[in-house]
Amino acid sequence: MALDLDAIYTDLHRHPELSFQETRTAGVIAQRLTELGIEFEEGVGRTGLAAVIRNDDHAAVEGERGPVVWLRADMDGLPVEERTGLAYASTARGIDPHGLAVPVMHACGHDMHVTALLGALERLVATTDEWRGTVVAVFQPAEEYGAGSQAMIADGVLDRFPRPDIVLGQHVTPLPAGTIGMRPGTQMAASDGLRVTLLGRGGHGSRPHSTIDPVVMAAATVMRLQTVVSRETDPRDVAVVTVGSIHAGLKNNIIPAEAVLELSLRYPDDEARARVLEKVERIVRAEAQASGAEEEPVIRVDHSLPPTINDDEATARLSAAFARAFGEDTVIDPGMFTGSEDVSWFAREAGVPLVFWFWGGVDPQVYADAVASGSIERDIPTNHSPFFAPLLQPTLDNGVTNLVTAAREFLGRR
Ligand code: ZN
Ligand code: ZN
Repeated sequence: MALDLDAIYTDLHRHPELSFQETRTAGVIAQRLTELGIEFEEGVGRTGLAAVIRNDDHAAVEGERGPVVWLRADMDGLPVEERTGLAYASTARGIDPHGLAVPVMHACGHDMHVTALLGALERLVATTDEWRGTVVAVFQPAEEYGAGSQAMIADGVLDRFPRPDIVLGQHVTPLPAGTIGMRPGTQMAASDGLRVTLLGRGGHGSRPHSTIDPVVMAAATVMRLQTVVSRETDPRDVAVVTVGSIHAGLKNNIIPAEAVLELSLRYPDDEARARVLEKVERIVRAEAQASGAEEEPVIRVDHSLPPTINDDEATARLSAAFARAFGEDTVIDPGMFTGSEDVSWFAREAGVPLVFWFWGGVDPQVYADAVASGSIERDIPTNHSPFFAPLLQPTLDNGVTNLVTAAREFLGRR
């Protein structure tokens, strides 16, 4: 029986799970893979799965194997309270790594990625008489931590399954449905997650002079960090410094002993990375000193993602295949995205090309109206927004067809 992809998607959307907690999601995937008769292993990189379609019989007789194509989908949701108003909106809650109860939402569309990959596997299994080679489907956990692909690699995914000749992946994005965004070279930025602990001296809120106030230190640091990009980065270069979380104190009349800032830094390459990190560190230390801190701030890199670099040749080949399949106007160069991905670890580790593309999930009319009224930033919710809601169809079908078209381009023919 054919998979009901719409139902799988809305079910996953209703039941998002935080990074490395995707056990229910993995269960849904396992059940569908079983129905499709596809071999797979669970628990790869904690909550990940890898599935294999071997379709090499003839080639094996001839003593040569067909190409091995890896298709990757990430699985995790985010600590965001969904406000889309959709009938299948999430009301799920989870426990984050700090032990806090948080709302959970598929605010990045990874439910769409999982469902599209299941749909693609269904079609590839049904057409094995048309292609030759091996398809490995990688359902990766914890992309949002930037840790899932490395967890799978550490768990031997490259050795326990046929090694890739190419790694392919896709991300749903606020482009008009029917559009594919891809470019050779740097497609997404490198990124670091920094945790900065500012150490002050706590005390009574009525006696600030007897303390070293980390709240004021944090406030000054956050403001000064804005100048890394605005005053210290060449306007022609890309860099992002975001302070996404700031935590200090529990009560109005207690000056706390420390403040914690969590930063997200983005850049196109290692050179820019070194430059930005040096400036951030300088400012953090100098602001602590300006506050009279007696202890140096603690700066820790929580995670580090390489830039997502699309292989020139494979990207040209795939973009031509997409244009042939869907029309010349379908494929656009969206420029480099300042978002980051951990998909490229698979390709880097295996030493093979990667192609990662974006596909549109916005009603084309809504998108066109927003362009006409100059209100894209306001009216088209982006990934990670509580309003992010890809148009279910044709986005899901497009996601399936993209993957099948891409896989078939790099698989052998019969
Ligand atoms: Zn995301
Ligand atoms: Zn994502």
